[in-house]
Order: sequence, then structure tokens, then C-alpha cells
Amino acid sequence: MIEQNFPYPSEVYRYFSEFAQIPHGSGSTDGIRQWALDTAKRLNLPAYAAEAGNVIIRKPAFPGYETHPRVIFQGHLDMVCAQLPSCKKDMTKEGIDLVWDGDFLRADGTTLGGDDGIAIAYAFAILENNSIPHPPLTVILTRDEETGMDGAAGLSPASLEGSYLLNLDSEDEGIFTVGCAGGKRLDLCYPVTAAASRGTKLTLSISGLIGGHSGSEIHKPLLNANVTMVRLLSAAEVPFQLAALAGGVRDNVIPTECEASLLLSSGVADAFCDAVNGALSEIRAAYPNETGLTVHIDIAENTEAQALSADATVALVSALAKLPNGVQKMNDTLHMPETSLNLGIFRLEADGMHADALLRSGINREKEALAEHLRALAEAAGGSAAEASDYPAWEYVPGTNLEAAAVRVFTEQYGKPPVIQTIHAGVECGILAAKAEGLQCLSVGPDLFDIHTPRERLSISSAARVWDFTLKLLAAL
Ligand SMILES: [Zn+2]
Repeated sequence: MIEQNFPYPSEVYRYFSEFAQIPHGSGSTDGIRQWALDTAKRLNLPAYAAEAGNVIIRKPAFPGYETHPRVIFQGHLDMVCAQLPSCKKDMTKEGIDLVWDGDFLRADGTTLGGDDGIAIAYAFAILENNSIPHPPLTVILTRDEETGMDGAAGLSPASLEGSYLLNLDSEDEGIFTVGCAGGKRLDLCYPVTAAASRGTKLTLSISGLIGGHSGSEIHKPLLNANVTMVRLLSAAEVPFQLAALAGGVRDNVIPTECEASLLLSSGVADAFCDAVNGALSEIRAAYPNETGLTVHIDIAENTEAQALSADATVALVSALAKLPNGVQKMNDTLHMPETSLNLGIFRLEADGMHADALLRSGINREKEALAEHLRALAEAAGGSAAEASDYPAWEYVPGTNLEAAAVRVFTEQYGKPPVIQTIHAGVECGILAAKAEGLQCLSVGPDLFDIHTPRERLSISSAARVWDFTLKLLAAL
């Protein structure tokens, strides 16, 4: 497509079309990193591949802005690769095919990578244009945001020299993100040993739950398959020996499936099933939205399996039943969860029973208090808690210069103020803000729909308004 056919702002789409040809899914960003470095070189701007695979480009101030505080313009290099079953493209080797569809830019059969290609395209459109007023500018493009924010985590604080950081990785025009929850992963382990036993083997499978993101959807009335399994097992009134227990795949996903196997002495399987069905009816009544909830029971007589003793099983199930899950505290001002946890993974292994939890809070000390509570519960049951990772909250500081300028510019352009929000999930701004004390951060972006799916699409009219807003904000800082 030749340039004059691109919608406004055409330079943004010219860059977008260029790097759309380079595969840049998370974990394979070498190509787009080199493209960014080469493009900066062509624009005669100092650029370098920084720690952890990030790209940093600097541009001097527009004349008259030399003494203004430095602005960091930030987005991420990687995109989520997802495609329709009918699309046979190898996204690790081939670029995407852009489709101009009315007000939408999308891709043919795949994700668009508007998340976060729009930040890269805006950045280069600003870098190449010497008639855009702005303070001294640093563009930071990070590696692998979508799979753990490794680039942001590995960025050195020295690279964040500046007063303001504008992150372009939000998907809702008119909403300014000004804070986010921190997170901590805990692996709770309860040592148990299994021995060869024999009995009626009963396998209990829970499936068909709705599931969801453990941060942004933790406040919804969703069943957690692991917690549901513990509730069913706790209802049993006959002794049993746990042989297997596994549920969930990732600690940041509300688990939708869990399976347990156990041994019963002969003749009590019916009583066990009656108790499970009784508990199940109560759960169904409390969660009428979970219409897909399916519990399947399979029974095999006279089977041998490695299993815990009946006493160890009672102790373990009651220890698991004591673990909290879901929203622990709401923030009544922002009407959103303040502190929560998700018991995302249950796995009975040779060294013991593991329960992996992801804790989140907008307030760092509340996250620590919840972690201590979980550790105390595990230790009281003879177990332990190991911390797997931890990142701080981006705590909202109202009334920063950056927020004030952005609100003023937005209100002038749109005739109404923006929505100011914090979110109950991790974002790169949280990691970056924690590295540079006093750095004022704000996250904005144009409307993107169905991100991370082959239906992902960018609103062209929204991207035009957010572009105008971005330039006015740069001029005002
Ligand atoms: Zn993103």
C-alpha cells in the first residue's frame, strides 16, 4: 500500500505496516529489535539494545524545550500470537496480513499486535518528525511484556532517567491508568508420603468452569476448580485415602478443572458419592452462572495405588480447606479489589502437596500480611511457603504534574474529563515506577478490542484522537 492511502496519521500506519512484516511474538523479538535499532539509525538518533533485550532511543528536545523535564515514551516490542484454526500461517516465521475494515485495522486470521504495536508506531512517528514540540525524549521499548514483563524487570534504573513516563499499553480511550496491584507467587508445600494401598478407586473430575484472569476477574462470581474440589472432598463422611490431586495450569488463571483420585474401603462408595452430590447441589445453587460445571465420578473396584493414609488425608484436606481464596478486601473508594489471591495450581507430587497461589494487592504491606497469613497456615499444618516471585504495587499518587497536565489536555480536547483508574493486575508501569523513585507514570492508549485473540482490532478513529492527545500532552510537558 502506498503512503497516501493510509488513514490519519499516515506515518503511524506506515511504521505499523513495516514491522507487521516481521514476526514478533513474545520470545522471538530479535527481528523487531533490530528493525527498531536500524530505523533509529536511519533517523540519526542514538539508539542501543539495552539490558534484558530492551531498546532505548533518545531524541533531543524541540527548540525551546531544552530545559523541560525529560519524558519517557514506553511500550513493549512483543505481541501475543493467536490465530484462527483455519489460518495456516507460521507466526514464528511470517508477518501478519493487515486488513483495513471500515473504522478497524485488524489482521487476516491472526492477532493484530495493536497491543502493543501502536506504541511502537506512535514512537517512531514522533521520532521522525522534527516539527513536533516535545521535551528531551527517551523511547523505551521492552521485551516480552506478555509473558512475564522480563524486559521491564531487567531494565536498569539508570535507563529510566526522566521525570515523566507515558506508557502506551492501555486499550481504552479516555481511561488513564495511574496505579496497579503488586503480586507475589507463593508455593505452599505440605509434606506427605504415599504408600502402596488397595481399595475401591474413585476418580473425581471437575470441569467446565468459566475461569478467568486471576486479577481482573477475581471479583466475579466464579468457581475455582481447586477450591471446589476441596469442598467436595471435605463433605465426605467416610474415610478415604488420597492418591492423586491435580488442578489448574497457571497461577494467574482461575482454574477450570481439577481431578482427584482416592481409595475407599469396599462398600462405602455410595455413601461417598451421596455426600459429594449433596455438596455439589449447594455449590450449584450458590453459583447459578456456572452452568458448565460438570463433576464426573469414575469407580474401579479392587485397585492398587500409591496413596496417603486416611489420617494424613484428613489432615491435608482440612489444611487445604483453611486456605483463603478470592477477594480478601475491596477498595471502597475505587470500587475494585484491593487485596486478593488465586489458588491457581494444586499438584500432589512425590515430595508433597503443592498449592501455588498468586497474591495481589494495591498496597504492598497488605500483600505481605496476606503472605504471612498463608505461611502461618501452611506451617501450622507442618508445611512451608516458598516465595517464587514478587513485584511491588504501583501505588497511586494523586495530583502529579503528569496527571494534571494529561487531565487538562484531555478535557480541552474531549470536552469532558478522563476516567482515572487503577487496576488489579500487574502492568509494566508498576515495575518501572518501583525502579525510579519520583518517576511519574501514566498509561493511556486507543481503543483496541479482543486483544490476544484473532479478533483483535484497532479503532482507527480512536487512534487518531489519541495521537492528537499525545502530541498536545508532549507539547504541554
Ligand atoms: Zn500490551
